[in-house]
Amino acid sequence: MKVTIDHKSGFCWGVVRTVDIAEETLNQSHLEGKNVYILGHIIHNPKEIERLEKRGLTTITHSDLERIAKDDKDAKVIIRAHGEPPATYKSAENLNLDVVDATCPLVTNLQNRVRKYHEQNFQIIIFGKKEHAEVIGLRGVCNDQCLVIKTLDEAMQITDFDRQTVFMSQTTMDKHQFHKVKEYLDSKIKNMIDLGEIDNKLLARDTTCRAVTSREEPLLNFARINDVVIFVSGKNSSNGKSLYQSCLKVNPKTHFIEDISEIDWAWFDGAETVGISGATSTPQWYLEKVKAEIENKYNIDEIALVN
Ligand code: SF4
Repeated sequence: MKVTIDHKSGFCWGVVRTVDIAEETLNQSHLEGKNVYILGHIIHNPKEIERLEKRGLTTITHSDLERIAKDDKDAKVIIRAHGEPPATYKSAENLNLDVVDATCPLVTNLQNRVRKYHEQNFQIIIFGKKEHAEVIGLRGVCNDQCLVIKTLDEAMQITDFDRQTVFMSQTTMDKHQFHKVKEYLDSKIKNMIDLGEIDNKLLARDTTCRAVTSREEPLLNFARINDVVIFVSGKNSSNGKSLYQSCLKVNPKTHFIEDISEIDWAWFDGAETVGISGATSTPQWYLEKVKAEIENKYNIDEIALVN
C-alpha cells in the first residue's frame, strides 16, 4: 500500500501568519514573564489548539476580558485570523488591554469593503453563517445593517431591493454555492429592472478566499487517483467540510476524521493507494502523524501475516 500526503494541503498562508504571530508573542512573553491569551480558538483545529495551549496560550471568551484587565493587566490578548467587530477593540481599549492583532489581512480587507458599502448606504447581503466569528466581525463593521444568508432558499426570501445591493461572501464559504446564489439574485434583480420596479443592478463581489478555492481542483485530482482518501480536519472548520464534500463527490471512499482514533481499518481493505489531505487549518505535522499511523498499521499487519 502506498500512502501519500497531498502536497497542496497544510495551513493556508493566513493561518501560518496567525500561528507565527502567536508563537512569537509566546516567546517574547515567556521572557517577560507575561501571560498570553487568545480570544476564541486560534483556528478550527483541536490538535493545533492543544499544541499551542501546551506552549502556554490560553483560550478565552469576551466575558473574560474584564477579569484579565483586573487580575492580569500585563497580559497580551491575541485577536485571531477571523477578526473581531469594532466593539471588541473598543472594549479592549477601554480596559487598557495589550492587544496583538492577528486578523488575516484578507479578512481585514473584506471588513473594509463591507464598511465602505455600508457608508455608501448599500443593502449588503453576505453569503455566510450568521454566528461564524468572521461574520460576527463583518456584521460589526456595518452595525449589523446587513442580511446574512447561507442557502439559495434564504436568498429567495429577500424581496426588497429598493436600495443598490451588494452581494459578498464569508471567505471560507463554497465558491460554487456563492455563484449559484449570485446568479439567482442577478436574474431576480434584472427582472425587477425590466418591470420598472427598481433601477440598480446587483453588485456582486466574490470574496471567497483563493487560498481555499485554489485547492479544490488539485484536491479533486488527488482524490481521483487514490483508492481511499482520508480527509483530516477539525469538525468545526467551514472549508474542511466544504473540501471534504467536494472530495466525496469524485471518490466515495473518502473518509473524514478529526482524530486518528476515528480511523476504521476496514476502509483500507483492497486499497493499494491511500491519499491524505486536509483543510487550510489542518497542521502538516498531524497529517504526517496520520500517515505514519497508517503505514505502521500496514507493516504490523504484514508482519502478522508472515508469522
Ligand atoms: S482561508 Fe484565506 S481568509 Fe482564511 S485565514 Fe486562510 S488566507 Fe486568510
